[in-house]
Amino acid sequence: MVPKEKIDSILEGYDKDDITIATLCSHSSLQIFHGAKKAGFKTIGFSVSQDTRYYDAFPLGKPDELIRFQDYDEIFERAGEFTDRNVVLIPHGSFVEYIGPKKFEKLEIPCYGNRAVLQWESDRDMERQWITSAGVSMPRIINDAREIDKPVLVKYHGAKGGRGFFVAKDYPDFKMSIDHTQPYNIQEYVLGTRYYLHFFYSPLKQDGYKVSRGGTMELLSMDRRDESNIDELYKLGSQEDLKKHGLYPSFVVTGNVPVVIRESLLPKAFEMAEKIVNRSYDLFGGIWGPFCLETIVTDKLEFKVFEISTRIVAGTNPFISGSPYADLIYPGLSTGGRMANEIKGAAQENILEQILT
Ligand code: ATP
Repeated sequence: MVPKEKIDSILEGYDKDDITIATLCSHSSLQIFHGAKKAGFKTIGFSVSQDTRYYDAFPLGKPDELIRFQDYDEIFERAGEFTDRNVVLIPHGSFVEYIGPKKFEKLEIPCYGNRAVLQWESDRDMERQWITSAGVSMPRIINDAREIDKPVLVKYHGAKGGRGFFVAKDYPDFKMSIDHTQPYNIQEYVLGTRYYLHFFYSPLKQDGYKVSRGGTMELLSMDRRDESNIDELYKLGSQEDLKKHGLYPSFVVTGNVPVVIRESLLPKAFEMAEKIVNRSYDLFGGIWGPFCLETIVTDKLEFKVFEISTRIVAGTNPFISGSPYADLIYPGLSTGGRMANEIKGAAQENILEQILT
């Protein structure tokens, strides 16, 4: 992890009126650049293998400058060049994933959010410890596969976008599909409807939904992921029959759909978000900025959180020009725009070190 003092000393040399926002050209970058440009920042898009021609189709989301690197190591080698240009990085899921969370911690360029969270988020056991010790409910873990007596989901560690996950209804079913060469965990398959809640916690803003430790919680939008092939599999009949033909359910994310949740669930949603933020400060110095609670709501109207993403998620992309929730706070603002405004406010008040690590 880059020592915080190192980042703070880099920031001392920054011209706060001339900040440039940079991110990797993928995931939610159109939204991040669009929001940053609207807030008046210069923008740089980093690319390694990413094809960047699609930006020409979306001029308002195109970065002012594109830099192509040989590989991800080159970003590290050229860090000084970017700090000389007052660059602030906005991390997103693909940026962190392609560099690798352990390595991303070491990048010597100021980054929005707390990088100490990476360790807690990238290890499924630590993530579970954080969320459950905050008093928020997660799907039950089954420690012994022989005890499977209801549908379970088997998740390989580090699997991204649900790739390789499978559903088993009993032990023989599990034995048939398990790959013992990879670490995995078995959790109850929670039957219900999925909601991916896009929160934004600001330790700097004081008016709004106040959080007990100070600052305010905002709910900016909500999506549901489109997952191939599970979302369409039912059209072909029973899963048991399909297995005989070599067709198995998979959970690969292919897109995002906007949703809203019934209004009476909002108090519970905010309560969970507040508990998770408060607990993050006890454990590792906190999370701030955007984060997503990935939840399933059961027919008893209870939330189960199966995952947390502690930065902007691609599920915010349907809301580049606002959302039914953001419009009640900042009409027309996206999560990308919200981050840009937070950075702009902190730069103006000369307190960037409070939100960059
Ligand atoms: P990502 O890192 O992209 O969020 P991942 O590989 O960590 O993905 P999860 O988000 O944990 O995977 O799960 C992928 C999908 O599997 C979810 O979007 C959801 O559809 C389904 N899922 C996960 N956990 C459960 C559960 N306990 N019960 C039912 N469905 C689940």
